[in-house]
Amino acid sequence: MKDLPAIKQLLDSPKEIVITMHASPDADALGSSLGLYHFLKAKGHEVVVVAPTEYPNFLNWMAGHEEVLVFDAKSPEKVSGHFNQAELVFCLDFSGLSRVREMESVLDQSPAKKIIVDHHLNPEGFADYMIWDTTAAATAELIYEMIVEMDGRAMVTEDIASCLYAGIMTDTGSFKHSNTTPKVHRIVAELMECGAKSAMISQAIYDTYSLNRLRFLGYALNELLEVNEEMGVAYFAISSSDAQNYQLKKGDTEGLVNYALSIDGIMVAALFKEVDGEIKISFRSFGDIEVNKFAENYFDGGGHKNAAGGHTFETLKNTVTTFEKLISQNVLKTKQKG
Ligand code: 5GP
Ligand code: MN
Repeated sequence: MKDLPAIKQLLDSPKEIVITMHASPDADALGSSLGLYHFLKAKGHEVVVVAPTEYPNFLNWMAGHEEVLVFDAKSPEKVSGHFNQAELVFCLDFSGLSRVREMESVLDQSPAKKIIVDHHLNPEGFADYMIWDTTAAATAELIYEMIVEMDGRAMVTEDIASCLYAGIMTDTGSFKHSNTTPKVHRIVAELMECGAKSAMISQAIYDTYSLNRLRFLGYALNELLEVNEEMGVAYFAISSSDAQNYQLKKGDTEGLVNYALSIDGIMVAALFKEVDGEIKISFRSFGDIEVNKFAENYFDGGGHKNAAGGHTFETLKNTVTTFEKLISQNVLKTKQKG
């Protein structure tokens, strides 16, 4: 948090501020943004939150979400004015400009001072200031620490606490992944003391499936799951017609990849999904298997050691063939010699 004193000084007088996040926002991206939004508003700043794309419906319990502007490439002027006028732009939960997709030029051209708060590896460093810590489980953890260090825990309202709790809960897989440190537990305990309603948040995020989504899960497990036991790899490939047949909505495949990883002996899981002529990819792994490097080297992506993503503009079939070939070549070293 070496840039924190400078950021604190910038926030000492009222400013026009934009907060933005990566495309396809998850609970950490949106929760961190809204948590910071409420804090900055309470400090007297003028703040707008901009999402590069829509976010899933299961996040629309978050206080302030109805104020979020969603970028639309067909009418960029709806948000570009805010970026042009802003004195500060907070970039949360990403550190590469391409992660905002079609909003990249709008963000890049903003004359504002840019502040990254993020926990991903290999930041591009396009910002003027960074709060960047890859040991943090979630960006929400960094936002919490930033608020507390700047102005103390009294500033963390129930709304802020709930938004930040959601980010930490989901980025740790409900406190199951290896990024769940003692510090994470301490922070979520404090967030609960500040009013975060943990059971409500868990229910709102995990127990609000549509019937279609649940039926699709059954179909995916029965019909789509491919398992390569020898290599310890399992994956799903979802075509646009699968998505159409089950009327899948944004977020409806979130978490699906974890079912592939839950099989005994499986060390790497992948999910390939055809969306608007592009293949979106999620990778998950256990232990020392670095799927972020794999995603970076072969699928134009990145992320964390055990949770990464990427994309291709190939067909679904060709993308899966490429993946299978890399796996059979043991590029990920899922199979040790001997
Ligand atoms: P998910 O599979 O949940 O979409 O993403 C898992 C992790 O990989 C997240 O931390 C996310 O930020 C990262 N990630 C997903 N897609 C991309 C991508 O296209 N590029 C990069 N650099 N990271 C990604
Ligand atoms: Mn995150």
